[in-house]
Amino acid sequence: MRFISTRNTQKIVSASEAISHGISEDGGLFVPADFPLLGEQDFIALCGMDYAERAAFVLSKYLTDYDYERLKAACEAAYSKFEENDAAPLMCIDEGLYVLELFHGPTLAFKDMALTLLPFLLREGCNNLGIKEKVLILVATSGDTGKAALEGFKDAEGIKIMVFYPSEGVSDMQKLQMCTQEGENVSVVAVKGNFDDCQSAVKSILNNENCIENLKKQGYIFSSANSINFGRLAPQIAYYFSAYCDLVNAEEIELGDKVNFVVPTGNFGNILAAYYAKKMGLPVGKLLCASNKNNILTDFFQTGVYDTNREFYKTTSPSMDILISSNLERLLFELFDRDSDKTAEEMRKLKEEGKYSISKELLDKLNVEFYGGFCEEDENAETVSYFYDEYHYALDTHTANAVAVLNQYQAETEDMTPVVVVSTASPYKFAADVLKAISGKKVEDAFKAAAKLEELTAVELPEGLATLKQKTVRFTDVKEKDELIATVLAFAD
Ligand SMILES: *Cc1c(COP(=O)(O)O)cnc(C)c1O
Repeated sequence: MRFISTRNTQKIVSASEAISHGISEDGGLFVPADFPLLGEQDFIALCGMDYAERAAFVLSKYLTDYDYERLKAACEAAYSKFEENDAAPLMCIDEGLYVLELFHGPTLAFKDMALTLLPFLLREGCNNLGIKEKVLILVATSGDTGKAALEGFKDAEGIKIMVFYPSEGVSDMQKLQMCTQEGENVSVVAVKGNFDDCQSAVKSILNNENCIENLKKQGYIFSSANSINFGRLAPQIAYYFSAYCDLVNAEEIELGDKVNFVVPTGNFGNILAAYYAKKMGLPVGKLLCASNKNNILTDFFQTGVYDTNREFYKTTSPSMDILISSNLERLLFELFDRDSDKTAEEMRKLKEEGKYSISKELLDKLNVEFYGGFCEEDENAETVSYFYDEYHYALDTHTANAVAVLNQYQAETEDMTPVVVVSTASPYKFAADVLKAISGKKVEDAFKAAAKLEELTAVELPEGLATLKQKTVRFTDVKEKDELIATVLAFAD
C-alpha cells in the first residue's frame, strides 16, 4: 500500500515512511492511496478472531511493507497490557444500544488503543527504511494522548518523547498522570495557552527546517504521536470492525446489517477511523459526530462553514476542547474527490483567515454520511445522571456528550438503526464531575471523588489511578509558546 499527502498527491511514500515521518513536508497528512476492501469471507474470518488478531488483520491491509508475523506479535503484546482479556469489549445496554469500551488500557482512555502499538510501528518503520537516527517524538495533548504516549514510549530504545499540554486545560487526574511519568527518555511541559496553541506549535516545529537541521546534527529525526500520524489512525480502524463482529457473534445483528456509531469528537481522529472502516466495506449507516460546547464541528456539518474565530470554552470534557480538528483535513480530501490542490487551498485559508467553507452540494454529500450535534454543559451532567439511573452505568463526561447527541438524533430522525456509543474514557479519569452528576455531591479532591464513585458503582477503581497518589511529581515546567523550540532542542541535547 502506498500513501500520498493530502496536499500533494504526487508525493508517494510507503507505510513505513508515512509512519516514521508523521507528517508530509508540504504540511499535508498522509492518507492511503486507496482503501483496501474487505469481503464477506474476510468478515467471517474476523468474527472468529480475538482482538489482537483482528487488529493485525486490519493493519496488515495498510502496512504491506511490515512483516505480518512481527505485526501480529506486536498486537498481541500491546493488547495484553489491557485490563480485560478483550481490549475493546462491547456492552449491550438496551435493545439496539451498545457501548464500546475503549478505556481498559494502561492510561484509561481510548488513546491507548493506538499508542500501545505505535512504538512498534514507528521503530519497525525506521528499521524497514534503514533509518539509523534516533527519533524525537513531539506530542500536543488535550490530556489523554500525552499520558498514553508517555506510557507507550517510556524507556523505548532510540526514542525520546516530549509532551506539551495546555497549562490550565486538563483535569487534575490527567495532569498528575503526566507529571509523575517515569522513564529516562520522557519530558512533560505545560504551555501557556490552549490545546490549539500546543498543536499548532508542534506542527510548526515538526516542519521547521532550522530545527530539523539542528536535530540532525544531534543524531535525531522528528516524528509525531498525534493522530496526524497514520500510525495512530490505523489501529483505531480495527475496533470498529471488532465491535461489528461482536454484534454478529452475539446475534444482535446479521452480517451485512447496518450499524450507526456515535463518537465523542475533538481532533476528528476517532471518527475518521470509523469513516475509513466504512470505506473498507464495514456496513455503517450514519456516523454521529458529537461535540461539547466547543461546537465548531456541529456548525460545520450544519452550515458548511468551518470558522475558528469564536470563543474557546473550557468544559468538563477537556479532551474535546479543540477548535482546530486536524484530521478533518483527511475527510475534506475525500470530499474533494482527492483533489490535493483544493485541500491545500482550504488549509491555507484556515491558517491565514481562521476559516473556510464548502459548497452546498458538498455539504449535502457530507450529510449523507455524517450527523453533527453537540452537548451543553448542563445537558452533559444530566446525561451522566439519567444514564446511571436508567442503566446503572457510569458514563465519563466525554462519552456523555455522545449519548446526548444520540438522543437528539433519534428524536429528530426516528432512525432506530442499532447504534454503538464509542466510549473514550473511564469515568474514574473525570471522577469529580461524574460523581457530582450522579450524586449531586461536590468532592473537589479527585481521589476522594473516585473512592465515592467506586462505592456507588461497584466498578473497581483501576490500578493505574489507585497508585497515582503515591507517585512523585517530576515535571513542573511552564513555558511560553515562543520558548518551545529552545525547549525541544535542549531536550535533544
Ligand atoms: C482524545 C479524546 C477524544 C477526542 O478524540 P479525537 O480522536 O481527537 O476526536 C474524546 N474523548 C476522550 C476521552 C479523549 O481522550
